[in-house]
Amino acid sequence: MEFNIAVIAGDGIGPEVTSWAVKAVEKAAAAHRFRWTELQAGGCAIDTAGEPLPAATLETAKACDAVLLGAVGGPKWETLPGHLRPERALLGLRAGLGVFANLRPATLFPELKDACPLKDETLKAAHPAGEDSFDMLIVRELTGGIYFGEHGRGGVEGAEDAYAYDTEKYSRFEIERVLRFAYLAAQKRRRTLCMVDKANVLESSRFWREVTAKIAVEYPAVETSYMYVDNAAMQLIRAPGQFDVIVTSNLFGDILSDAASALSGSIGMLASASLGAKAAGRNYPAGMYEPIHGSAPDIAGKDQANPLAAILSGAMMLRYSFGLETEAAKIERAVSAVLKAGYRTRDIAGHSSLGGIKLAGTREMGEAVLAALAG
Ligand code: NAD
Repeated sequence: MEFNIAVIAGDGIGPEVTSWAVKAVEKAAAAHRFRWTELQAGGCAIDTAGEPLPAATLETAKACDAVLLGAVGGPKWETLPGHLRPERALLGLRAGLGVFANLRPATLFPELKDACPLKDETLKAAHPAGEDSFDMLIVRELTGGIYFGEHGRGGVEGAEDAYAYDTEKYSRFEIERVLRFAYLAAQKRRRTLCMVDKANVLESSRFWREVTAKIAVEYPAVETSYMYVDNAAMQLIRAPGQFDVIVTSNLFGDILSDAASALSGSIGMLASASLGAKAAGRNYPAGMYEPIHGSAPDIAGKDQANPLAAILSGAMMLRYSFGLETEAAKIERAVSAVLKAGYRTRDIAGHSSLGGIKLAGTREMGEAVLAALAG
């Protein structure tokens, strides 16, 4: 098959890590043909086009089958006004592509166990197989809720009655569509889904529960449970092994997924997918794939960035946009293999429980993955 992919490498370490993701995808899915279209967004677009998300970038990205993104931003653009900041490009891309479901897997590679701040007993607690590990998928609603709701300020500035507000508003349609992604993902995993909310206080959360109970009936193979977000934050730290798929609102998902990522050791290991509906006349759901880390200006251009999160984002693209499960799993096995062989970029080097570590730069790590894919 042939796939058109927009590559938005971005700023800082973005281009360094994205190039390895492209190579890994090409190698793992060599039977297919990929056309890569390089586009600019973020700081580099501000420099060349005067805005973080040029209309041409968005239009071309929308016409592609999927978008692979590196990272945007950096100190050079930090003093610009909000609407001109590189990070605006991310919001514009999410909204423009209509990607409303953010999937963030958080797993603990056995080789990086020492990177996890939790004790073995904590990891084993509530793990269905009693293993000192976890493997969860957080599905976060991405284009609704309090980040997009009505907000503002009122009263007399500086006076006692000055106030500010943000509004959490969700429609049935918005909740149902993200739930369906979560249930479909749960069906392919351990078939348990936990909906996280604050239904003891918030009306919007009670509505999420109501809608979830209705949708749950359509997925009888998946066991549904509910948890308050304060408890979920605690459970992530006390017994992360209990979670399979978590689905939640934009705000709660933002916070919980960062907490979960900290348990995995390094931000340089974690991939994400943002998915939307299939547009009329298209074969694929809209999809944007990116590592969860930023542009890491402190290590940009030094051959120190961990390319594994970007490479794993490439695997997610093969799985979720193109249905190439075998090829996606091949990349994931290759990443495991290079970790087993002792390859470590600096961010994960200090945590290894294995002897014989090979301290690797971005290039050496990328090449090791390609070699593992060839094997
Ligand atoms: P960051 O993720 O860029 O870096 C945080 C720390 O993690 C740094 O010490 C960095 O060196 C390290 N790190 C990040 N990725 C790494 C990798 N692949 N390998 C090894 N180490 C890695 O977060 P930050 O410093 O808060 O932000 C830097 C810039 O990135 C800012 O302009 C921010 O707005 C932007 N940002 C962009 C995105 C995105 O494009 N999706 C996400 C977060 C931050």
